[in-house]
Amino acid sequence: MPIVNRVADLHAEITSWRRDLHAHPELLYDVHRTAASVADRLKSFGCDEVVTGIGRTGVVGVIRGRKAGAKVVGMRADMDALPIEEATGLPYKSTVPGKMHACGHDGHTAMLLGAAKYLADTRNFAGTAVVIFQPAEEGGAGARAMLQDGLLDRFGIEEVFGMHNHPGLPVGHFAIRSGSAMASTDTIAIDLEGVGGHAAWPHEGVDTILVGAQIVNQLQSIVSRNVDPLDAAVVSICVFQGGHADNVIPQHVRLRGTARSLSAEVRDLLQKRVREVVEGTARLYGAKAELTYTTGYPVLVNEERRTAFAAAVAGEIAGTDKIVNGPPRMGAEDFAYMLQQRPGAFIWLGNGDSAGLHHPGYDFNDEAIPVGTSYWVRLAETALAG
Ligand SMILES: [Zn+2]
Ligand SMILES: [Zn+2]
Repeated sequence: MPIVNRVADLHAEITSWRRDLHAHPELLYDVHRTAASVADRLKSFGCDEVVTGIGRTGVVGVIRGRKAGAKVVGMRADMDALPIEEATGLPYKSTVPGKMHACGHDGHTAMLLGAAKYLADTRNFAGTAVVIFQPAEEGGAGARAMLQDGLLDRFGIEEVFGMHNHPGLPVGHFAIRSGSAMASTDTIAIDLEGVGGHAAWPHEGVDTILVGAQIVNQLQSIVSRNVDPLDAAVVSICVFQGGHADNVIPQHVRLRGTARSLSAEVRDLLQKRVREVVEGTARLYGAKAELTYTTGYPVLVNEERRTAFAAAVAGEIAGTDKIVNGPPRMGAEDFAYMLQQRPGAFIWLGNGDSAGLHHPGYDFNDEAIPVGTSYWVRLAETALAG
């Protein structure tokens, strides 16, 4: 079964919604215009319930099937954009300086709206489809905020599914994998204090530049020497701030970075070893180190049975030869919080040969709209077949 006919008919309309969202990007929880337009459209489709303000600016639509059934399935899209100056030059490019939809959440929101319109029109299923539009995926843990507002219990959601576009994967293809699919992401901030002074008398000071450099080097031994070679992990120091003159040893240096892994065990190991390496290395040179290790999004784990189910639905739409058993990725997704609480699966949708995610030249590929929207409607109809 290829693209759903009625969804193909909605292609132009969904594209116009997508481009309107694209022209009006909003950040984190401040997605007021986006959330209002989502809620208005859901109401115009005749959803049984439209609830706003879940997780601050999240929106939920409830659609009950024509046939009797108790099962409730949740489908989630994200609504927020990024603090990037758009460089696409497109006619529908961002109208807001310094903000753009560079991760395709405009496409995710539009496709799930299209599915909601179809499902509210046809209602050819038993049970309840819940469409979830969350704010603040880009670092603000909007998914967690919606969970903390009681999203799952309030609507009785038993299973959750998510989707993200994937540059480099051809349009009409999907990628999915069972188990750990995306990384946990924790942040590292290190404040070093030494003894500043004249660069000509280093023996009278404690050189924070040298200590910081040693810490950067020693941290690289964690992945290569402490983590099992068969496990994945990343420790990257991305900020090294210190010094202001070529003849002054600075008193302070600040380092910042990220630690990522694909399992809770490795995640714990990274945290333990980063602390030991930072504090041990600072002590070795007589400096003081203050480490702030902040845990972020957890590992995204796709549940086995729902992954097989989602892959089968995608295969019906795209053809089974276009479903890739994708490798895990070291990027992170806050949909992981939802998958900690309910079984489900997160799937990648081919965006074709576009610029990469978070690139100023990126644009969501509107040719993927019928594919992604068909996936959503068929997923709901199959999960709620009764
Ligand atoms: Zn992103
Ligand atoms: Zn994204």
